Amino acid sequence: MKKTDPANASGADTSRRRFIAGAGTAIGAAVLVSTLPRSAQADDLPHLSPTDATAQTLGYVEDATKTDKAKYATYAAGDTCANCNFFQGSGAWGPCQLFPGKAVNAKGWCSAHAKKA
Ligand code: SF4
Repeated sequence: MKKTDPANASGADTSRRRFIAGAGTAIGAAVLVSTLPRSAQADDLPHLSPTDATAQTLGYVEDATKTDKAKYATYAAGDTCANCNFFQGSGAWGPCQLFPGKAVNAKGWCSAHAKKA
């Protein structure tokens, strides 16, 4: 018959409790972040600079009307980050899926613009 070492059983219980407590904290933090208003998250993001290497590659400008229309023939009047499928904000600045960790200007534009359906 197999004997259970009370010291190990107690240690396992402690480990299990720590794991459950840690998992609960992580889940709680994830729920908190996902329920924050989008504007609160966007406000914390640094603004994407038009001089950023990727921004320059994609021809990002903070004012869509300043787009180099000769260079970017795909630009159409009225196209802005605000009506782009990659824009995830609702204010003057918001996250863009192409520039993680940065906020783009809702009035901006880049050559990856994809009009919202
Ligand atoms: S992908 Fe869309 S939202 Fe992002 S910078 Fe370009 S135009 Fe703006």
